Amino acid sequence: YATNDITTNNQTNPPTVSDRCSRGESEDVSGPTLQKLITEIKRFQVVIKVYKIVPDEKTEIKSTLKDWSDRLNLNLILTTGGTGFAERDVTPEATRMVIEKEANAMMVAIAVASLKFSPNAMLSRAVCGIRGSTLIINLPGSVKASSECLRVVLPSLPHALSLLKGEVKRISKDHMELPQDALKMPNTSILYHYVHNLNVTNSIFCVYGWEASGNTGNCSKVGCFLSSQLSSITLEQHVPTHVVSSDSGLLSADDLNTISTPHIDPSILLTRISTTQDPNMTKTSMPLDVQSERDSSTPTPLKHPTTGTPIYKVARRHRTSPYPLASMDEAFSSILRNAVPLPIISKHYSDAMDHVLAEDIRAKSPIPPFPASIMDGYAVIASDTPCDLNVVGSSVCDRDNCNHSSGVTVEKGQAFRITTGAPLPVGANAVVPVEDTLLLKETDNGREELEVRILKLVRAGESVRPIGCDIKTGEVVIKSSTKIGPSECGILASVGATTVKVHQKPTVAVFSTGSELASPETESLGPGEIRDSNRILLITTLQSNNFKTLDFGIVPDKPGELKAALLSACEKADVVVTTGGVSMGEKDFLKEILVNIGAKIEFGRVFMKPGKPSTFATLQSGDRKKCIFALPGNPVSAVVTCNLFVLPALRKLSGFLEPRPTILSAKLSSEVRLDARPEYQRVQLRWEPQEPIPWAQSTGRQVSSRLLSMLTANALLMLPPRSDTCTSIKRGEIVDAMVIDRF
Ligand code: AMP
Ligand code: MG
Repeated sequence: YATNDITTNNQTNPPTVSDRCSRGESEDVSGPTLQKLITEIKRFQVVIKVYKIVPDEKTEIKSTLKDWSDRLNLNLILTTGGTGFAERDVTPEATRMVIEKEANAMMVAIAVASLKFSPNAMLSRAVCGIRGSTLIINLPGSVKASSECLRVVLPSLPHALSLLKGEVKRISKDHMELPQDALKMPNTSILYHYVHNLNVTNSIFCVYGWEASGNTGNCSKVGCFLSSQLSSITLEQHVPTHVVSSDSGLLSADDLNTISTPHIDPSILLTRISTTQDPNMTKTSMPLDVQSERDSSTPTPLKHPTTGTPIYKVARRHRTSPYPLASMDEAFSSILRNAVPLPIISKHYSDAMDHVLAEDIRAKSPIPPFPASIMDGYAVIASDTPCDLNVVGSSVCDRDNCNHSSGVTVEKGQAFRITTGAPLPVGANAVVPVEDTLLLKETDNGREELEVRILKLVRAGESVRPIGCDIKTGEVVIKSSTKIGPSECGILASVGATTVKVHQKPTVAVFSTGSELASPETESLGPGEIRDSNRILLITTLQSNNFKTLDFGIVPDKPGELKAALLSACEKADVVVTTGGVSMGEKDFLKEILVNIGAKIEFGRVFMKPGKPSTFATLQSGDRKKCIFALPGNPVSAVVTCNLFVLPALRKLSGFLEPRPTILSAKLSSEVRLDARPEYQRVQLRWEPQEPIPWAQSTGRQVSSRLLSMLTANALLMLPPRSDTCTSIKRGEIVDAMVIDRF
């Protein structure tokens, strides 16, 4: 080798530094090889601008580098040769004299990679650095070593050069154009749907493939792409590959292509590594979960590609959740969007309580169906009054005397004894209350009135309900979408609407997950065991809101059992509510199993306190979409999120026009410090005499494990997140409070 010189291009340029080459005593092979290597990568659009062989002279190397950086303003200068220990090897020294910033990591990357090829790499002193906007990279002199070293830095070059050129927007694009040898992407549509599902438009993902490694299988990074461009990418540009299942032998990429969607968990293949700073990105107040490149080298748990059984490796679990934090608004809208009212069914009115009507109820006949007395007294002809009248009959029907008003006609000078609600006899047009009369004459045995005095004047129609005065024929008595309560049941009965159309009510399957959970009946707990409080807590919360529940018991943190329980619950219920297993613990499998059974994770984390790991997924099952709420394990988090998310969803599924919770204004009894997240603190609302706004009294220490903080709570304070200008709310200030119980 010798050092000689340098080549340049618009974006790249390999120069050769060698005395012998510069004297023409030997041919420069490395320079042209590097040029070929770099120009072959079409996506780089490299133009070689200048190529030169320079002798191993510090001043000449230095002036060439300076000239090419400052005058030609090249993007990249590659040097080959002059990096070793020989006396004349001075390329690194000359390079150091011109660079303004060192690119240390690049040097390390080259050194580490080349040491794998040969221990002689120890003899390279190559330097990488930046002058102005030019990147200068020293490569060794030999064809083999220089090519190998260039290959090491190639993947980072587009990104590096974009940064140097100030092309921020290109960064993300370059990330996806890694110049790896293109291989076939397994099951593209899965990745597409997965990324689409995450709803992150400007994130860069790393793609992993499985590679054989003993009995365990290994993940290795094979490419990158930008989420917003996933659909337009020809996936042949991307990469995975040698796919090997851990215990059933080799699978090819083609095998993987044929595996049906539910068997592949795309989160195993993908890791989000960064979010680009696109100003057009949807504005969100929530911090997006940005994973570092370092994190991305820690692949997610593997799964057996054919059986779908996860191969969990705690060392490889996510260290940052791959699920973006949804805002409360986003989470809530997602739930309401996905919870579609259940089909309409016919119900007997006596079983229709708490259902939402799916039809208008009309009266088939009037109420009252006849002119009815409002008072106990005498039906009279108004124009007779005041006067003395003969009593000619009674509306009361008893065993011996049934002189009903039907068929009776009241004439001038006559009165008819009548009770409240009884029909007026023909001829009468008013009722005189018994209190406004005097008895004048009775039968000998005193059992019957014969003559009464009407003490005051009454007008026609007085104390009479005309036909249909309460409900007219054909009138809509209950509108569709009304929730049927006791009054509605009464009205249905009075108009004879004994069979009504209502929305079916959802049935909710509930189970607790956690291998540490024991039945509440357990007398003495084993080591590490705790009693399962969540299941009864949620079941009773749901039941007290009039929803039917199915108790699916306790399911241990075992993927197979969790999967079976989820599938069975989804089959038997409209909504599934689970607790536990959704955070970052090594036994938190729920999310992956949801993906595994083909459910779509609508959100996997929410920016809230308590309840951050709350997960909501949907599973298409025939023509129905099942809603699955995987709530956090801490009891308070579980019940708070049940109130915030599950109950509104159940109301929407039941057909409620307004499924949202009731929110009141309340005054703080004591100052509260705000959290970075919107917080839902448990409080008791109390009304003081003469004060229209209730006081919100905290239920004590608000940690999510302390279920005692739910005792006596009838509301959740809805505290806003802390801001620069507002870090606490003082006593007496008014805040929103969500009602969770009767007062
Ligand atoms: P996890 O979300 O599964 O990590 O659980 C968080 C915490 O809640 C742990 O301390 C669990 O032991 C506890 N936990 C989970 N499920 C229940 C349950 N059903 N009843 C009471 N505590 C639970
Ligand atoms: Mg758990």
